[in-house]
Amino acid sequence: MKLTLETILLKSPVFLQNLAFSIYGLKTQLIRYGGNYNNYYKSVLSHYKFDMAKLNKYMESAFLNSINDAAKNVPYYRELINKNNIDLNGIHSLDDLKILPLLEKSEIRKSPASFINERFDVSKLFVIHTTGTTGTPLKIYSNAQSRQKNYAFYNRFLSNVGIDVKGKRATFGGRIIVSSDQQKPPFWRYSYFQKNLLFSSYHLTNINIPIYIQKLRDYRPDYIDSYPSSLFCISQYAKSHNIDLRGVTKGITTSAETLFPEQRSIIESVFGVPVYDQYGAAEMCVFVSQCVEGKYHIHTDYGLVEFLREDGTSAEPGEESEIVCTSFINPVMPLIRYRIGDRGSFSDKKCNCGSPFPVMEKISGRKDDVIITPDGKKIGRLSPVMKGFPVKEMQFIQRKKSEVDVLIVKESNYDDNSEFELIKQLRKRLGDVILIKIEYVDKIHRSKGAKLKSIVSLLDATP
Ligand SMILES: [Zn+2]
Repeated sequence: MKLTLETILLKSPVFLQNLAFSIYGLKTQLIRYGGNYNNYYKSVLSHYKFDMAKLNKYMESAFLNSINDAAKNVPYYRELINKNNIDLNGIHSLDDLKILPLLEKSEIRKSPASFINERFDVSKLFVIHTTGTTGTPLKIYSNAQSRQKNYAFYNRFLSNVGIDVKGKRATFGGRIIVSSDQQKPPFWRYSYFQKNLLFSSYHLTNINIPIYIQKLRDYRPDYIDSYPSSLFCISQYAKSHNIDLRGVTKGITTSAETLFPEQRSIIESVFGVPVYDQYGAAEMCVFVSQCVEGKYHIHTDYGLVEFLREDGTSAEPGEESEIVCTSFINPVMPLIRYRIGDRGSFSDKKCNCGSPFPVMEKISGRKDDVIITPDGKKIGRLSPVMKGFPVKEMQFIQRKKSEVDVLIVKESNYDDNSEFELIKQLRKRLGDVILIKIEYVDKIHRSKGAKLKSIVSLLDATP
């Protein structure tokens, strides 16, 4: 199992770990920026000059290509269209979108391979195990071209807010960078070819934060990409100790969790630069990012976003509703009218930044609590732990500081070894001092229309 290799790696000398991160980083870099990347990037940059009519035309043609390709080459859609007697000749424009049914996550879970486009060679595909914040793991297939397109869009976002795409980076994410039993620095590893200093999000205690701060000061990244909670933790500490971090970096981007207004304001005041937040999904069907005016734009040339009421009708501007996405950039696994599980609302007002892309007013559904360990670590985003495990759903509930309940809905092939390995993965993030209580359940309750919350904190005192 890959876990063993990872465990060995985390126990090896730091220079070897840096080498391993660098080699892995080089491999990733070659995929992301190889092939047609430069052409994709130039092409998506040019879309900023589109007017509404041109953008709509682009989306319409992307949508029609996608649906016709899927109907012909993707087993799931072929069957769906046959079974429901859908007449493809009746689909001429985006207005005809609603002829197609909504796509549930459970359909993908049931048979992910039936979503693979037969035009592509299966042996050359990448598989991503995704969980997002929903606690439902999915297998997503893509290829090098889809990854290149994805990064073309991501880098368009960065360059649009003035961040040097090729600059030095510091990142705080959900990956295990440093073993949880490591007590002393360095709490980071360096990926040489990506010019990326990867910080552990799981060692941010009051004792360690000054060490992180010193490293950030020495390294001076061109930008920091972080989970809001990680950088907020550092900023809060800096603020309460009157530490000024202005000049340490030129830009900050956040993703994956909801960025709360108080988090933004403290991070911005401590670092003296604006925070640009973005919202995406491993399913590669939606991409939303902030512009220099602070508005969230939906990159509708990346994927189409519908805002739907419970009865399936379209919501009005400002009305909170369900987000449904149709991907344009990953023909390997086209997701059409996919219920991603998030909610939000859109605005019909144009933004002063001049972008032709529509404005999203609100994104909800990314709200997650954090687990606080007895030694003071704040751990958010535990759903990545589930990757590769036979687990349908998972939820963490913390009632006391000394323990955490883990509710698990098992798959049929879950066994004692799965439990053993899962606890090992949890220990890497939560450390050894918190009691982990596993409870197997048939389902995890949630209120109607609401997304499953991965972490529920019932601790009284706010930290
Ligand atoms: Zn804007």
